[in-house]
Amino acid sequence: MLAERINNLLPQTQCTKCGYQGCLPYAKAIAFEGAPINRCPPGGNEGIAQLAVLLDVPTLPLDTSCGEHVPLQVAVIDEQFCIGCTLCIQACPVDAIVGANKFMHTVLSSDCTGCDLCVSPCPVDCIEMVPVAPVRSWTSKDAAQARVRYANRQSRVAEMTATNIRSEAIVESEAVKSADAAPIQQSADSAAKEQTDKQLAIAQALARARARRLSH
Ligand code: SF4
Ligand code: SF4
Ligand code: SF4
Repeated sequence: MLAERINNLLPQTQCTKCGYQGCLPYAKAIAFEGAPINRCPPGGNEGIAQLAVLLDVPTLPLDTSCGEHVPLQVAVIDEQFCIGCTLCIQACPVDAIVGANKFMHTVLSSDCTGCDLCVSPCPVDCIEMVPVAPVRSWTSKDAAQARVRYANRQSRVAEMTATNIRSEAIVESEAVKSADAAPIQQSADSAAKEQTDKQLAIAQALARARARRLSH
């Protein structure tokens, strides 16, 4: 299938800089909607040239409104400021960040694609993109690894979603069966209080982190 052959030439960082939700959606847009072949900054001019050969169309310069082509970068977390909110983990398409709720987080640099999707969600601005040393470009081997990690994450997220739906269905079923729904209401109240407490803890941690940063 043409979209799959195009996708095979894309870098698989899933960075969304092309304006699509990932590499495969961009590949489909090229194959079926006539999207231009020059919207992938990680692939750069080399990637555009490969697409041009595959599709037998003229090559184009990179559309820099999507971003510049730069050597491979990885995310680094300044752990002294991390408040353990997990937002970066939720943003990472290849599960390259480890950490637990309220504990500091770390990037596994060997798995980081440099997509920078974790940077903007960080509420304390403690994630920085830095060039890898020695400087090098993203390779097709990197792309193959990222593709597997992305697929694994998609499966994990789908499984978690299915589990949550099953849990909600069980709770609803129990609520219907129960003559006295008060304990369930108490459970909902308790969950709401826990959520409020968590938001308060994050707000306090943010204030502390900002104060620390201002004092440096
Ligand atoms: S790597 Fe290229 S094709 Fe894939 S999401 Fe990023 S910009 Fe789009
Ligand atoms: S750690 Fe950040 S930059 Fe690296 S792959 Fe994950 S989201 Fe992208
Ligand atoms: S988003 Fe920032 S503060 Fe939150 S866990 Fe990640 S690095 Fe830490």
